[in-house]
Amino acid sequence: MERGINTRCLHLESAEGKTEHYGAVSYPIYQTATYAHPGAGKSTGYDYSRLQNPTREHLEKVIASLEGGIDALAFSSGMAAITLFMELFQPGDHLIVEADLYGGSIRLFDHVSKKNGIDFTYVNCLQNDIQKYIKENTRAVFVETPTNPMMNVLDIEKIAKIAKSKDLLLIVDNTFMSPYFQNPLKLGADIVIHSGTKYLGGHNDTLAGFIITNREDIRDRLRFLLKTTGAGLSPFDSWLILRGVKTLGIRMEQSQKNAMEIVEWLKEQSIIKDVIYPGLKEHPGHEIMKKQARGFGSMVTIHVDTEEHALAILEKVRMIKYAESLGGVETLITYPATQTHADVPEEVRIRNGITNSTLRLSIGIEDSGDLIAELKSIFAQVNEVF
Ligand SMILES: *Cc1c(COP(=O)(O)O)cnc(C)c1O
Repeated sequence: MERGINTRCLHLESAEGKTEHYGAVSYPIYQTATYAHPGAGKSTGYDYSRLQNPTREHLEKVIASLEGGIDALAFSSGMAAITLFMELFQPGDHLIVEADLYGGSIRLFDHVSKKNGIDFTYVNCLQNDIQKYIKENTRAVFVETPTNPMMNVLDIEKIAKIAKSKDLLLIVDNTFMSPYFQNPLKLGADIVIHSGTKYLGGHNDTLAGFIITNREDIRDRLRFLLKTTGAGLSPFDSWLILRGVKTLGIRMEQSQKNAMEIVEWLKEQSIIKDVIYPGLKEHPGHEIMKKQARGFGSMVTIHVDTEEHALAILEKVRMIKYAESLGGVETLITYPATQTHADVPEEVRIRNGITNSTLRLSIGIEDSGDLIAELKSIFAQVNEVF
């Protein structure tokens, strides 16, 4: 029987019962670039840290087990992971990409991948049937769910069926949910991407990225590409992510609990026009989320009544940090229009529903009463000024 996910965050079953690390409970950091060979043509299994490093490998095995993949590859950032899998494609290939996506991914596709001859069609996969956009040269579908920042919920199983029937790869960026709440491979995806900087690391202190797959052909190709291009995660950062992952479950639960409480409170506030959170029963993706995930996460998008009020909130936060990123223990608030989605063309941004009064909250694990108290005091000040 498969062990529970909290146990898998802490223990790697295949590494148990071995004594080579003097019984160290915390996996050692192998801070080495290279490895001495025992003899001519012989190897310890490790030759050079761009190819393999025990600390990175241990982390990769833990992440593969959390997502249910045959392998995981650890990168120096989420964008390094996404950049690498784009190398699976050739000039002339076409990808269908969800329109409401992390801005950095859109920047990569538009300003780097296109130059390399890869073509993209951005599709709002919630409102449109992706089958209509499949062309002769379409090779893959790339989505996030819930989407960033509009929190549209896409039915992974449904998209996977379409992708399979046309022999397309389905790639899911699972950053917002983490493997604790959602496992796209089990729903039919071929590749899962994570910005490990977010929930997996969880402490707003380390950049990392992951690609997880359950297909051997893709694994072999990705391993070759990683060895060749060299964006593997460093031993120390691998250790930091390993340490972060140990508490993934309790962090996800606590931040989700806080998010639920804050969302209920935000709904009652006069300066908030709309609260978008898939944990709300009235959210259109609520039922799909219940079917394909084990929770709703702690990302909340709000529309404030005016741009002035939105900007004033950003000016006045103190304990809550006005900062890019998400998924850490500290609560962060961001302004998608000029931060995460600054490089998304304005008409696309507006079409996706991101306005100049849209704010995105990543709820942390503080006491929810303190978070609400800060917001309450800010809203009162903001209302007075304007
Ligand atoms: C942050 C993020 C990325 C990029 O990851 P980095 O670690 O910042 O390079 C990709 N996708 C999503 C959904 C993200 O939130």
